Amino acid sequence: MTSNLSSGDNKRLSDLYEKIQDRTRLFLGYPVSKDFDYTDLLPFLQYPINNLGDPFTASTYAVDTREMEREVIEFFANLFRAPTDNWWGYVTNGGSEGNLYGLYLARELYPKAMVYYSDATHYSVQKNLLLLNMPNIAIRSQENGEMDYEDLHNSLLMNRHLPVVIFANIGTTMTEAKDDVKKIKGILRNLAIKNHYIHADGALSGSYSAFIEPRPAFDFADGADSMAISGHKFLGSPIPCGLVIVKKTNRDRIARSIDYIGSVDTTITGSRNGHTPLFLWYTLKKLGLQGLKERALHSLSVAAYAEAQLKSVGIEAWSNPNAITVVFPAPSKWICQKWQLASENGLSHVICMPNVDRSQIDDLIADLVSNPEGINYSFQQQPAPTFTPL
Ligand SMILES: *Cc1c(COP(=O)(O)O)cnc(C)c1O
Repeated sequence: MTSNLSSGDNKRLSDLYEKIQDRTRLFLGYPVSKDFDYTDLLPFLQYPINNLGDPFTASTYAVDTREMEREVIEFFANLFRAPTDNWWGYVTNGGSEGNLYGLYLARELYPKAMVYYSDATHYSVQKNLLLLNMPNIAIRSQENGEMDYEDLHNSLLMNRHLPVVIFANIGTTMTEAKDDVKKIKGILRNLAIKNHYIHADGALSGSYSAFIEPRPAFDFADGADSMAISGHKFLGSPIPCGLVIVKKTNRDRIARSIDYIGSVDTTITGSRNGHTPLFLWYTLKKLGLQGLKERALHSLSVAAYAEAQLKSVGIEAWSNPNAITVVFPAPSKWICQKWQLASENGLSHVICMPNVDRSQIDDLIADLVSNPEGINYSFQQQPAPTFTPL
């Protein structure tokens, strides 16, 4: 540990380190990858990197990683089939900020619009709608968590004089259901609703939906006008992050030039993390399209294994098509705590992120089968490393 702190404070740091290490090991319930290694990037922690302003416009604050940020955005604009020469985006603090941005653009385009989203939508979206003061209607979801298209059709019918903003889920939080953007577009066309905007929340599944066959209807070519994903979920990052891709012509309507930063104020926050674009860039360079696809296929195969194994011991597990989330009745509190399983309305899930393998699933199932309530468990711990200054 560094010598700048008292021995008591050093001890607190190493205790914290061990706690985090231990809690990370047993972690099957939240959609966060743990298999990243950014050691090569450690030297960058010595600098006050800040990408404030627009990633595509130079700023007078030049300790930045905008060049890498632009490459990350370009990669995903292509993956999400954004219109050629009409895309723009930036690396956000997470999926929620990207969703807020999509809704913000939609409101600037259609200030009088009604927003429709299914009742399986992430909890942060209602807050965003409140912040933006956008009137909204919750649509029923089907048993599997996907939007009920008939309910959507009927609700649209009642308000067809208003412009429409659809907030579509590409992987819901609880069951990883994907709303079908093409189908939604078809409903809007049938009702002859011209003024509409579709934002796709791909926080979890957006990152790998392009690698699934048959490809789900989720991106710009399917009818989306903007798309947000999280970076710390499928891709993996020690700091939460994400990105949002929009149509450039839409973003141009809100750009304001600011002398103080020598850039345009097109993003939600002022200062922006300059390290997270570097993490994402590093992962994309290291894995490439092929590596990302392999990660997705690995997750899908572990999820299929988990579902089959759960069923084989009599647990009623199920999953949506091509999902890495396996849903089952919520187990005892002890198991939920040990494996950090979220539960809602009597359901729990395991999310087979790329770092999850079959042996972890086997261990979880052994616990589910024996279910020794109140057992005191302990695990082999690695000693905390000595921290050496860079
Ligand atoms: C995780 C998640 C979010 C929020 O993303 P953050 O990166 O945590 O801000 C939004 N929607 C869905 C479907 C999610 O899974």
